[in-house]
Amino acid sequence: MTQWVYSFGAGRNEGRADMRNLLGGKGANLAEMASIGLPVPPGFTITTEVCTHYYDNDRKYPSDLATQVAAALAHVEAAVGNKFGDKHKPLLVSVRSGARVSMPGMMDTVLNLGLNDLTVEGLSAASGDARFAWDSYRRFIQMYGSVVLGVEHHRFEEIIEHVKLDKGVVEDTALTAQDWHRVTQGYKDMVEEATGKPFPQDPEDQLWGAIGAVFGSWMNQRAITYRRLHDVPADWGTAVNVQAMVFGNMGDDCGTGVCFTRDPSTGANVFYGEYLVNAQGEDVVAGIRTPQPLAKANAKPGEKSMEEALPGAYAELLKVRETLERHYRDMQDIEFTVQRSKLFMLQTRNGKRTAAASLKIAVDMAREGLITEQEAVQRVAPASLDQLLHPTLDPKAPRKLMAKGLPASPGAASGVVVFTADEAEARAAKGEAVILVRIETSPEDIHGMHAAKGILTTRGGMTSHAAVVARGMGRPCVSGAGGIVVDYTAQALAAGGQTVRAGETLTIDGATGEVFIGTVPMVEPQLSGDFATLMEWADKTRTMKVRANAETPLDAETARKFGAEGIGLCRTEHMFFDPARISAVRQMIMADSEGGRREALAKLLPFQRDDFVALFRIMAGLPVTIRLLDPPLHEFLPHGEAELAEVAASLGTDVAAMKHRAAELAEANPMLGHRGCRLGITYPEINEMQARAIFEAALIVAKESGSAPVPEVMIPLVATRKELEIARRIVEETAEAVFAEKGARVEYSIGTMIELPRACLTADSIAGVADFFSFGTNDLTQTTFGLSRDDAGKFLPQYVEQGILAKDPFVSIDRDGVGSLVRIAAEKGRGAKNGLKLGICGEHGGDPASIAFCAEVGLDYVSCSPYRVPVARLAAAQAAVGAGGDRTA
Ligand code: PEP
Ligand code: MG
Repeated sequence: MTQWVYSFGAGRNEGRADMRNLLGGKGANLAEMASIGLPVPPGFTITTEVCTHYYDNDRKYPSDLATQVAAALAHVEAAVGNKFGDKHKPLLVSVRSGARVSMPGMMDTVLNLGLNDLTVEGLSAASGDARFAWDSYRRFIQMYGSVVLGVEHHRFEEIIEHVKLDKGVVEDTALTAQDWHRVTQGYKDMVEEATGKPFPQDPEDQLWGAIGAVFGSWMNQRAITYRRLHDVPADWGTAVNVQAMVFGNMGDDCGTGVCFTRDPSTGANVFYGEYLVNAQGEDVVAGIRTPQPLAKANAKPGEKSMEEALPGAYAELLKVRETLERHYRDMQDIEFTVQRSKLFMLQTRNGKRTAAASLKIAVDMAREGLITEQEAVQRVAPASLDQLLHPTLDPKAPRKLMAKGLPASPGAASGVVVFTADEAEARAAKGEAVILVRIETSPEDIHGMHAAKGILTTRGGMTSHAAVVARGMGRPCVSGAGGIVVDYTAQALAAGGQTVRAGETLTIDGATGEVFIGTVPMVEPQLSGDFATLMEWADKTRTMKVRANAETPLDAETARKFGAEGIGLCRTEHMFFDPARISAVRQMIMADSEGGRREALAKLLPFQRDDFVALFRIMAGLPVTIRLLDPPLHEFLPHGEAELAEVAASLGTDVAAMKHRAAELAEANPMLGHRGCRLGITYPEINEMQARAIFEAALIVAKESGSAPVPEVMIPLVATRKELEIARRIVEETAEAVFAEKGARVEYSIGTMIELPRACLTADSIAGVADFFSFGTNDLTQTTFGLSRDDAGKFLPQYVEQGILAKDPFVSIDRDGVGSLVRIAAEKGRGAKNGLKLGICGEHGGDPASIAFCAEVGLDYVSCSPYRVPVARLAAAQAAVGAGGDRTA
């Protein structure tokens, strides 16, 4: 026989906390609390399996359910000494839904079930309080009427208002037993009129009506949407909890409240909560009366704490707090009721908390010996660290929302609006905080992005230029805010009828994608203390290394500060955009002969060498992966007459010839065009210059420090073994030439990015000429899906909204497709070359769920933007102990 019903309380505890799949979170915890001796009103839980059975069998219950419910109800009756429907001593119950995970959208609670025209008199006599009894009855009709029978809420309110108006009173408290009687009659008439049936009087009918409504709510639209958004399978089902009522509204020795065993916003080890004297549960939520503090110490003038009003129950509650934390070993969110000075527990669950609280609670609890250090590491959602590493908006501060875009790079920033990179730089140089607003950014905007406090774009997705560069720099960024119209000519941006002009202030929140008009006050991040402690514990646990994607000394230093163990990707093209070099870069591209290019490259060599010297110094003793030039050449092309003229002069030719050359270089599909290793095939002298700069720099740092860096030279966008062979030969020949000239050598390695499907499928062959692979999952996602990185932002959000894709594949790795290719490449690569070093340097290297995947595939390291390094360290630690994925705070 299947057990469909599990009793709890009054000496019959059939459930446990670990039975949440069967009993739902609420039911499992009620059973657990009862079994550890806490005061829980007796009741029973109808399992989630009944819900599944109900939907699998054309909305019919198992045949023996009614018998099991009757038996469980009889146990409650015996325990309480009241009987369902008894006109002298009626048993009243509450009915609540409760799925495995707490799920907004499910049925609201129904209290006082069991009341009818007869039993209300019994309640009145038993309590000696007619007003309380009639108030309870009308509350029941109201809750049942709206929650179970679907009568609109306002229709009940109107009836109360009518009675109050009639009496000339404002407060509910001024209404008498007779008034509530009148309200009840009005409710019943109205419900009958609205539903075509009298309000159910038989408590059995009421109970089955409520049970049916709970199961019915599992398939309501709100619940279905919530499940889709949070990956909750429909076959989990919900449980139903039926529990003997206790009353917090029987007088001034009664009350009800909600509390957290620690402060959910700071994590401080203080009892945090509020209560209302003489009130029923929904009064606290409804916000009609102002809840009061629990502890006397927290009471402001005019407030009366629970400690003062209900001292016995308060003392009991303090003990419960201790017991629950020791038992559950986590911060609890609890609900309680005090009936005639006696405390009853109605719910406990792990409390939701902010990122800061999550960190503090985990570290404190490990120190208190409640949990182990390794458990503390598992308790904090890696992605939530992002919030802690940047200034964040003061949650209490008022704000005026203008629009919403994508949360492209976390942190918040305020500043005056500027529309060009040059102006951003000029105003920042004068000490002004600026927000750079662009329709989209391109590599030429980098200096302005660097100078800005934050970046806002109206186009582009999560891996658009703005997003990637901003994350790399640690600048807050909101991208793809399509609701905003930017007018460069008018120097203004507008959304929803609000306009902000150049020079006016704007605040962006890169963690939420929100854009606010004006300045919103911020709170600064804390990197020492608990944060440092948790990171230390994470480092002891993890096996994968964490490197950073960095090219500027500032980024490299930030990366070191955050604990990076080397550089996994130095995008050398970012070094080409510096204003001091851009003209030599342009000269190189526009030259139509090898000689012309070599002349320009000779100018660039010292710059590149200095760049690498700086990086090697900062990363002393750590690996530094330097990627040879990757982007399409057109990104460097001169724009406008003045720039064309400048390049023409440097090459000894005219503007017309330059225009002709620019047209020649233009590409229809640059992302799939002349970029990556293809540049080095056609212009080997570029690779030669870059390799020379790398080895000369390595020798300089080796000589000055006595400890030689180990450069890892990386070739991008390789599709065939031959391409890598050619690139490799140039790098090796250059290395030998430099070593011969300088009379000294350094160790180095040459590897490739794996970022094209063909490279994955032929990774065994490519591995023959590679010392390492680094997965470029940005391009690999782009080419696997055939989805442009720069354009996907326009439609990809809809794919996620409609559930076509669970997540943006540029943010979190698509395990089935892109992930399969990574797996194939890793297996083939290591199959051909034992112990081949494998890493990842796409944006996914900083995404916790993707990091868990990397650990599964057996990568040696992940590399991500400097500000994500701590996130990756924590995620790698969780992956090492198999926690995987992302835990939300
Ligand atoms: C990649 O494609 O994943 C990568 C790291 O290279 P980039 O983003 O520079 O193309
Ligand atoms: Mg790439």
